[in-house]
Amino acid sequence: MELKFAHYPFTSDASKYVERSNKSLDSLLAGGEFGKAVIDRGKERVIQSIEGEIRKSFGDGVLAEIELFSYPLARILISCIDDHYLIRKYALAEAEAAHAQMKQETLRFLGELGEEFGIEHVVHGRDFKIHFTHYLPFASRMRDPKWKLVNRRLDDGYVVVNKGEFARLLQEAVRNNIQDALPLDVPEGISKALSPQVMEIKQHLEKLKSEFKIGESGRVDSNCFPPCIRHLLMAIQTGQNLAHSARFALTSFLANIGMGEDDIVETYRASPDFDEERTRYQVQHIVGSSGTAYTAPSCATMATYGNCVGKEPMCSRVSHPLNFYRKRMNMDKKKEK
Ligand code: SF4
Repeated sequence: MELKFAHYPFTSDASKYVERSNKSLDSLLAGGEFGKAVIDRGKERVIQSIEGEIRKSFGDGVLAEIELFSYPLARILISCIDDHYLIRKYALAEAEAAHAQMKQETLRFLGELGEEFGIEHVVHGRDFKIHFTHYLPFASRMRDPKWKLVNRRLDDGYVVVNKGEFARLLQEAVRNNIQDALPLDVPEGISKALSPQVMEIKQHLEKLKSEFKIGESGRVDSNCFPPCIRHLLMAIQTGQNLAHSARFALTSFLANIGMGEDDIVETYRASPDFDEERTRYQVQHIVGSSGTAYTAPSCATMATYGNCVGKEPMCSRVSHPLNFYRKRMNMDKKKEK
């Protein structure tokens, strides 16, 4: 089997390979050794995406086939759950895994992938030239100012990008492609057959949703958040729109403690007026390219705008919500020791 299919299971050639094989979904679910390995890896693939990284280890032949077939199986498992947050996490993790591999590919291969995803381009020496109408949909999501059109060399309507940048744009194209195609319609019989795997994935998903990722330093229970921040999160969960000052306070607080842009955007999803693009734009503005463009407001500022609510004893010992959070984190760590 062409090993590249396993690295790029979302391409049309890879799906043709799967379709042409004599391994139907029913045969995979029938309980044979190969089918069991594919289902296990499909489940693992989704769980790894929840944890933030799909780790791939390839062998030749049958191992590469298991890897390849686990991709459509993972998509089916995700469709059985049909959770927007999971779909986004999964699409991002698949795209990042593919991007890691793309760095080792030739210019020609990347160009072919670009064609598959509709990125019109011409090879220009060791670079690519992409028409700006094909560049913008993918580059507009990047926070680094180098992606802004005003900072690029434009050549007759074409943007010049190097090989690494082209691969990064491809990562965005792959992410969009995977995300937009989910969820699939899954027949009831298949959902039923995969219910043990679905249950296991749901448990991982619920665990993630009850925690917040804090950069490289580990996870924290949201109980460490000060009352003001918990109140704002609760307001969103109960379908209230936040005033501008409250949105700024919440976003900057979450960014300051290391939460990623995607996770912050997801925090606002339950808002009645949620508009993903507008929210992302606002979050990007507050977070900045380094994640620390603005510091969260102090307790005094929170009080001025009516965002300081229901104090706890710890509040009298801090002048900033971030200090509240750090102190509570330290207390929890000491208790664990
Ligand atoms: S005193 Fe500070 S930390 Fe406590 S609720 Fe008010 S703003 Fe938040």
